[in-house]
Amino acid sequence: MVKTLSVIVVGGGLGGLATAIALKRAGHKVTVLEGAKQLSEVGAGIQVPPNTSRILDAWGLLEKFKTKVVWPGNINMRRYSTGEIIGTTPLKPKMIERYGYPYLLIHRADYLQLLYDASLKLGIEVVLDARVESVDDKAIAVRLANGAVYTGDLIIGADGIHSNVRAAVIPDETILPKKSTNCAYRATVPVDIMRSDPEISHLMDDLNSNCWIGYRRHIMAYPMRGGELYNLVMSHPGEAAVGKWNEPGNLDEMKYHYRNFDPVIQKVLTHVTGCLKWTLADLPVLSRWVSPSGRMALIGDAAHAMLPYLAQGAAQAIEDGATLGVLFSRIESVDEIPGLLALYEKIRRPRAEKIQKGALDNGDIWHMPDGDDQIARDKAMKIVVSDDTVQKVHVKNPNQWSDGDFQPWLFGHDAISVAKKVLSEKLTGYKSKNLEERASL
Ligand SMILES: Cc1cc2nc3c(=O)[nH]c(=O)nc-3n(C[C@H](O)[C@H](O)[C@H](O)COP(=O)(O)OP(=O)(O)OC[C@H]3O[C@@H](n4cnc5c(N)ncnc54)[C@H](O)[C@@H]3O)c2cc1C
Repeated sequence: MVKTLSVIVVGGGLGGLATAIALKRAGHKVTVLEGAKQLSEVGAGIQVPPNTSRILDAWGLLEKFKTKVVWPGNINMRRYSTGEIIGTTPLKPKMIERYGYPYLLIHRADYLQLLYDASLKLGIEVVLDARVESVDDKAIAVRLANGAVYTGDLIIGADGIHSNVRAAVIPDETILPKKSTNCAYRATVPVDIMRSDPEISHLMDDLNSNCWIGYRRHIMAYPMRGGELYNLVMSHPGEAAVGKWNEPGNLDEMKYHYRNFDPVIQKVLTHVTGCLKWTLADLPVLSRWVSPSGRMALIGDAAHAMLPYLAQGAAQAIEDGATLGVLFSRIESVDEIPGLLALYEKIRRPRAEKIQKGALDNGDIWHMPDGDDQIARDKAMKIVVSDDTVQKVHVKNPNQWSDGDFQPWLFGHDAISVAKKVLSEKLTGYKSKNLEERASL
């Protein structure tokens, strides 16, 4: 008999809602405490790789999801100044052929709404305006800003890079986000504006993720919301104002940063009427993800916030949630919680931390100055890897999305199967390979 746990998830972002769905599907009573008065996401796009769409499919959400997405043909890496394609990662139908699941683009608000609707349908309680101020690891309790106290058998900290739960999980250290030397602008341009300008209207028919890369700067851009909007993320040197993580950006400054870029993408920027400036940051590798009591754990950005350069932050949060869902699907007593959370950490840390490092590396790879190294990089990025090569020869590519080893490891990962295998080995006492090896299957 599965023991029904009372679970509190702190934070109703993409990671928190996904974790709530996974744990509710495993048979538990789940309450999500979200600090905001309304569920909200930045008005920008997000890439959903096959390692995520596989999980959404397992939860029965992928078909609904597909009604809101753009399904890109390729990720094209482009020379910043000319737009010349210097490397391509084929996505459609290649990701399905190779890994069984698609690579998709979606508006963040649509993504969050889909997870929220699914949560309510499953009977998850989502409490808004419920900001957690303090966390008690001994009592397994959280206190809200309004004084209300919630207790549970298990608490999941899904409260993002500035997590409050983290202080209770790692009480003996002060963990601060590491600010990157780069910031990002985020903006969207409506389809009618894009279509009305003959110099850029073709971009709305270019159903690809395009990334113009240059010295210390890049622009990632793609159509989203079924082609209603053109989405832009623009990384550049600088900082947002101290203490602020999301503030209006200056449009002249934005255009100035990209004055040497491809005239086509510069033309798009002339149509941007407002943008947000976003401090890019990640977390240091944490010493632990599970609290001293063994009854609280961190997921998503609270555990492993990463730079967005591999487009995997939310994907990893969802893998965390899916892993917890499997591990807690056969629990018979609350006494098993610490052991299961320790297993969660062992399975998830090597993968999430490798991706965190890969994202950091991508900044160096993409942001090279012009010169011999950049010429060598561009030459190596040109290689398009055939299926045979991906599987057998493992050709190296500085474009990590196309690398013969990294791509199958990143996109082919099946977090649910890995967790099921590890759990069944724990339950039967059978140990085949070491955990790290199994977690990277
Ligand atoms: C420019 C950019 C582009 C990106 N692109 C991609 C991409 O293409 N693909 C991808 O997979 N990832 C991408 N990411 C990363 C991704 O956005 C994050 O990793 C992901 O949103 C993290 O989800 P989360 O739920 O862990 O945290 P968050 O989204 O930060 O959610 C935390 C939630 O907790 C709530 N909260 C915080 N504190 C409290 C509290 N004390 N009490 C109650 N509630 C609280 C917040 O209100 C929020 O709703 C990108 C990130 C950036 C910056």
